[in-house]
Amino acid sequence: MSNEFDVLVVGGGITGLTVAQQLTARSPRTSVAVLEAGDRTGGIVGSYRREGFTVDTGPHGFVVYGPGGVSDLATELGLADELMAAEPAAQRLFLLRDDHVLEPMPTSVTSFLRSALLSPMGKLRAAAEIVMPRRLAEEPFFHFTARRFGVEVARALAVPAVLGVTGGDSKNLSVDAKFPFIRYLEKEYRSILVGALRTTWQQQRAAGKRILTLPKFEEFGMRLFSFRGQGMQRLVDALEKSVAEHVRLGARVSALDRDGDGWRATLTSGEPVRAAQVVLALPAYAAAALLGPHLPRFAATLTEIPHPDVRVVGIGYREADLARQPDGIGFLTIPTEHTHILGTIHTSTIFPDQAPPGTVLIRTLAGGVQDRGFAELSSVDAVETVHQDLRRVFGVRGRPVFSFDHLWRRAIPEYQVGHRNRIDAGLAEVARLGGVHLAGNTYHGVGINDCVRDARRVADDLVGTPVTVSS
Ligand SMILES: Cc1cc2nc3c(=O)[nH]c(=O)nc-3n(C[C@H](O)[C@H](O)[C@H](O)COP(=O)(O)OP(=O)(O)OC[C@H]3O[C@@H](n4cnc5c(N)ncnc54)[C@H](O)[C@@H]3O)c2cc1C
Repeated sequence: MSNEFDVLVVGGGITGLTVAQQLTARSPRTSVAVLEAGDRTGGIVGSYRREGFTVDTGPHGFVVYGPGGVSDLATELGLADELMAAEPAAQRLFLLRDDHVLEPMPTSVTSFLRSALLSPMGKLRAAAEIVMPRRLAEEPFFHFTARRFGVEVARALAVPAVLGVTGGDSKNLSVDAKFPFIRYLEKEYRSILVGALRTTWQQQRAAGKRILTLPKFEEFGMRLFSFRGQGMQRLVDALEKSVAEHVRLGARVSALDRDGDGWRATLTSGEPVRAAQVVLALPAYAAAALLGPHLPRFAATLTEIPHPDVRVVGIGYREADLARQPDGIGFLTIPTEHTHILGTIHTSTIFPDQAPPGTVLIRTLAGGVQDRGFAELSSVDAVETVHQDLRRVFGVRGRPVFSFDHLWRRAIPEYQVGHRNRIDAGLAEVARLGGVHLAGNTYHGVGINDCVRDARRVADDLVGTPVTVSS
């Protein structure tokens, strides 16, 4: 591989690979190199098969929204036939209360009224959302939910929804940055419930329905996908294959300096690599280390974004050993001091080909801001702790027949209040540097679909066709 390129992509996760794949497909004469510090590409995304189980160490799947996301990419890579939609059961979600009781997430007015998740006063307060005034100032998700629906709803839903998905803190997470659609409903319709109703009816009318019905939770839930047979690694393999000759593994960039009209990246070995344009497809803290000498203030902003450690622990059981079979996509935990699991994905329920017949595979997320010490446990202790939690919930009688444990240090960036403005201002400064581009889960969303769309935004800029990424 030469040491001079038109475009240098630093970071070979899903974002960096997608930037390179888009560039090489659309502008074949552009010389591109991907420098990846690790010994494999894919970054957080990866899976393998063991003993008949599919182990997704990072993401278990993706949801698709907006054009140019993962399903479009999969089609471009020839993977359309391998896309696997989650079973319809994935539309059901549970909340774990009092360490062992699974309550279905209410999906209709009747189930809301019957739900044991809220007291009668809590339900009344939630219904009063319809008359709550609009407030436009940016605020944390917890405070937003408490203001609109009451504190009971915030405790029962907002806290677990953030903890169980990213390990983060709903009292820090910006509703505007993380859930822009919910905020849009308040801005546009004053009330979330009214907005959801009006939006659903508009869609029903547009679809030619004559009798309009109340919205169902499923209509707002997005469909989850993975890849048949191999899980998420299939996407990494196909991307890597499409850019194989451009990728260099074990190449950690330790400095980025101006070099004439372009840039020079220096590897930890001291080797220089020059390019006219550089894409930093890195976690925030790694991008900050390279940007520091050029934009110290923005680098500090990136360094300050919290990334709680989380642990993905998966356990397989014989179906016959469970008094209660896992149902739905999984559960989110309303935290107490006794339960370590923050949330589960019922892998074998939603993707039956990911566990051998007669077994179940339950993937759990643990640690996060709720339980920082969990990251320090040995693998044996982490699996045993999760097993004890699952025993209470599902009435497990036997021992696990399979397990895996993967610790993610500094896992998912937490978009705190003010994130959107800070990032927009920072990206504008980076654009003024000239020749440096940022993409990845720090900027326009943390999901794989967001990362793929962000990668495409940068690739579009580089091949000269501007597009707007709406978050
Ligand atoms: C446990 C977990 C579960 C998740 N579940 C889901 C899910 O179910 N669905 C979903 O949509 N999203 C999920 N996400 C989020 C999603 O997986 C990530 O946001 C996304 O994969 C980030 O991709 P990326 O390429 O931007 O970054 P990364 O995957 O972090 O890739 C960055 C790459 O840069 C490399 N690198 C770092 N520093 C340097 C350097 N100095 N020089 C060269 N290379 C460097 C790293 O080795 C890495 O390979 C999950 C995340 C985690 C942690």
